[in-house]
Amino acid sequence: MKLYNIKCPDQQVSFEQALKIGLGREQGLFFPAELIPLDDIDALLEQDFVTRSSAILHHFIGDEITLDDLTKMVQRAFCFPAPLHKVSGQIDALELFHGPTLAFKDFGGRFMAQCLKHFASDKPVTILTATSGDTGAAVAHAFYGIENIKVVVLYPDGKISPLQEKLFCTLGDNITTVAIKSDFDACQTLVKQAFDDAPLREQIGLNSANSINISRLLAQVCYYFEAVAQLPKAKRQQLVFSVPSGNFGDLTAGLLAQALGLPVKRFIAATNVNDTVPRYLADGNWQPKPTQATLSNAMDVSQPNNWPRIEELFRVQSRSLSELSYGVMDDRQTRQAVQDLYQQGYLSEPHGAIAWRQLETQLEADEHGVFLCTAHPAKFQSAVEDILSISVPLPAPLAERIDLPLLSNYLSADFAPLKALLLKVTG
Ligand SMILES: *Cc1c(COP(=O)(O)O)cnc(C)c1O
Repeated sequence: MKLYNIKCPDQQVSFEQALKIGLGREQGLFFPAELIPLDDIDALLEQDFVTRSSAILHHFIGDEITLDDLTKMVQRAFCFPAPLHKVSGQIDALELFHGPTLAFKDFGGRFMAQCLKHFASDKPVTILTATSGDTGAAVAHAFYGIENIKVVVLYPDGKISPLQEKLFCTLGDNITTVAIKSDFDACQTLVKQAFDDAPLREQIGLNSANSINISRLLAQVCYYFEAVAQLPKAKRQQLVFSVPSGNFGDLTAGLLAQALGLPVKRFIAATNVNDTVPRYLADGNWQPKPTQATLSNAMDVSQPNNWPRIEELFRVQSRSLSELSYGVMDDRQTRQAVQDLYQQGYLSEPHGAIAWRQLETQLEADEHGVFLCTAHPAKFQSAVEDILSISVPLPAPLAERIDLPLLSNYLSADFAPLKALLLKVTG
């Protein structure tokens, strides 16, 4: 597979290189040099999830990984389903939250972990990442038990939910969690300091497992195919996907699936009031505002880092961004959407409910809609319980961890103690 840096197109890399370096020169994102449609989509849609996903990923990645190896990697990464749940005659929910951390990020995170393991030489690899809650859990679970790879996750002490903390700070083994006595920004600064320390970076093989890694997006392409495969043929003709969007990785993956030939009529980019993209699509001005905290906090992003890939995709396909539909919802509308959806018999959390409402209001009579449910309702337990006045039980992956002791280290926001800890866990 060949990829190029969108900012510096003369920087061309293989899949393995893009995987390992994450970002190109000048912080440029990598983009596939070719988007060749798949041959027989109907036959592909007949296959099971793992077989089909392996074929799609092999189509992208080419001979850098054999189909045999890739199939084994996909088996380990996608060890949970992505079922469609019928909400109404015209609308289905695509449930992406059946993985170990109850959010769609498990798909991308677990496939990236398998890729890094596949390409690991004898040298040690240390994944260092800062989290405000969710991504850290997905990364920790994705790499848990993988030989030769150590994971260190920093998070702000007391500033993530107790549930989130239980989910990934109870694993142990190759996963080290560090509660920093400060805020999320301080955690990110510490990560930067570690990457700026060249001898340390070399010695412990630092890698960021960043959310913009191309391997994550390729993995996410697969569940769009899985959604369509579960629909009867008649509903595949006028298909609309509604995607709750923050950094726009999920929407990028959907557009890549469409570029490979998946029959999708259009996409709706659904956001909360952090609406840089919808405003841009409406008036052509890119004007991020300060980020606002909302109920759908995984979408509290005002400078979405995958957006350049979407622009690039439309550019190389000579398409117009006006093809994208969009919708924006504030917290009051979000609460109402969670309630109305519940009235229809489907329990959802704020992100999924935002995507549903956009379908419900924008879908035309001859269209069929699928909205992405990006997290399990229990992951946003207190918000959902508050909105609906019901109790939301914890699903097994969370319930199992709730009584386990926290294994975190507690450090001040200084680089020296963190460096000492990094050398100790990797030594
Ligand atoms: C990360 C996340 C999103 C946003 O996905 P992007 O790919 O960043 O647009 C939406 N919902 C949930 C629950 C998430 O965790």
